[in-house]
Amino acid sequence: MTDNNEPQFRKVPIDPNKRGIKKKLSMVQSFAVALASRGISNKKINNPIKQLRVLSCFGNQEHGGILPPCEHLQTSAIDGSKNICGACGCGDSPRTWLIQHSDEYGKLDYPQLACPLQMPGFTNYLVSTPDESTEPVTRKYYIENIDYKEVQKTPVTIGEEENKEESPKIDS
Ligand code: SF4
Repeated sequence: MTDNNEPQFRKVPIDPNKRGIKKKLSMVQSFAVALASRGISNKKINNPIKQLRVLSCFGNQEHGGILPPCEHLQTSAIDGSKNICGACGCGDSPRTWLIQHSDEYGKLDYPQLACPLQMPGFTNYLVSTPDESTEPVTRKYYIENIDYKEVQKTPVTIGEEENKEESPKIDS
């Protein structure tokens, strides 16, 4: 994408007013729209939606990909192992942490959830505008056009307690 092999992604404004609509949706675009609409009535989010959300917020560099995290992803000041969306204006608390590692819901587990950038996987998702496909492409355009098998590689859990190893038994 660039001369020095460092992939670059164009930033987009949070203001959605200037967005256009593509006439033909890509596979991931269509799927993301469908998943988002289904998510509203589900009690729990499902794995495919959460995978898209995790990709939208966290990118996939930790899993061998080239997509960096969203520019608005922030580390929680309360717990450095948790992250919040800095563009939502929801603050920093266990309720706003995007991913939880317990049986509590993380923010990305909620069926109906809006993203300020209207990224894939969120209920207010809007497809990228035609200009987002010109280099450097936007993160949204990149996610919409990657092989869906890559999306499926994103590891997620759905508000479930992590498997804990059984405590060793102590003979008395
Ligand atoms: S919710 Fe949207 S704006 Fe916020 S970190 Fe995730 S992708 Fe970025």
